[in-house]
Amino acid sequence: MELTDDVASKKNPPPIEPRNKVDLLGMDREMMAAYFIEIGEKPFRATQMMKWIHQMGVSDFDEMTNLSKALREKLKPLAYIRTPKIIAEQYSEDGTIKWLLEVDQKNAVEAVFIPEKNRGTLCISSQVGCALECSFCSTGQQGFNRNLENWEIAAQMWAANKALGCKPKEERRISNVVFMGMGEPLLNVKHTFPVARILMDDFAYGLSKRRVTISTAGVVPAIDKIKAELDVSLAISLHAPNNALRDELVPINKKYPLEVLIPSLYRYVEGGHSKKHVTIEYVMLDQVNDRVEHAHELVVLLGELPCKVNLIPFNPFPNTDYTRSSNNAIHRFRAILEEGGLNVTVRKTRGEDIDAACGQLAGKVSDRTKRTVHHVEFDATARHDVLNVLKGVP
Ligand code: SAH
Repeated sequence: MELTDDVASKKNPPPIEPRNKVDLLGMDREMMAAYFIEIGEKPFRATQMMKWIHQMGVSDFDEMTNLSKALREKLKPLAYIRTPKIIAEQYSEDGTIKWLLEVDQKNAVEAVFIPEKNRGTLCISSQVGCALECSFCSTGQQGFNRNLENWEIAAQMWAANKALGCKPKEERRISNVVFMGMGEPLLNVKHTFPVARILMDDFAYGLSKRRVTISTAGVVPAIDKIKAELDVSLAISLHAPNNALRDELVPINKKYPLEVLIPSLYRYVEGGHSKKHVTIEYVMLDQVNDRVEHAHELVVLLGELPCKVNLIPFNPFPNTDYTRSSNNAIHRFRAILEEGGLNVTVRKTRGEDIDAACGQLAGKVSDRTKRTVHHVEFDATARHDVLNVLKGVP
């Protein structure tokens, strides 16, 4: 499908403001209150500001009519709401919309809106590219560039609401948000956690914790950090029932193998409300992980874990050797899991005609030929943090 640049350009905000101003878009309530105290204002300004930004979609201080003129003038040289530029917008025949958002002069990330009968899900990105190199994922094949900052992640929600023409205060078309776009959110907790808080804050988007899901390939220390710091839904990209196969499909398994990962999931659900569960994502790859014995192994592996298994038919992308499991194989797999007492759903593939389906997001990374180790162009500190986690450096 053609990119509708002309449509997108009309929605583009004014040029980016200077970097020395403080950016308010990505601040959670605590950060925002601290900021207002720092500039000598009352902390309740934080909730007013969050409502304007996130519930009303306002980015111009002059429109914030319950702030005094003096405060608005005071803020202008100090702070701003950095609004993202939509470079392209694509519509799928099934109603799915994909946006490409520019985050700096060389990089862009994708966010996808999936409308359904009773809900609208926004799938957002947490990094430019991904360092995990899962063999069946298109994002993983293009290399890793850098972590997204708070504002760049929050910007996806803000821009999606704008593009859909709705103010969340009046109309909630985005009822669910999943961190299932480009990148590994749990290798960027510093920037994803505040955004998850903004999404769930009643003074911002007010989504319930059941409707905000962080999906991870299994960064165990960060799963424990979720348990300690953030009450949010969790999805695990499991994809294999044993270490040998998982090492191949999801290489971070070599660092956090199943005997380490699975107990962390029990810790996550422990002590929560009775319905607290983990979503287990399992991509269906023909003849690779979809055999009868894999299904039996999975039943044993998941044991008593309160979970729902989501089978995801593989979405192909250029130059991949994998193919999607047949419908028969998916049904057979599902039946075995159900016989084993598991709750199973099969994900309906959406937005395939615009490459917006799971694992097809590629965004625009400054130089796709460069792999992780060589690519140190942006934000070297954050990059090294991510790479150190992968190498096991504390
Ligand atoms: N890094 C995170 C989030 C991004 S991937 C994670 O691994 O969970 C979001 C989901 O899409 C994951 O379950 C991922 O394994 C799945 N996925 C990736 N590539 C896919 C593909 N080609 N087809 C189907 N699902 C895919």
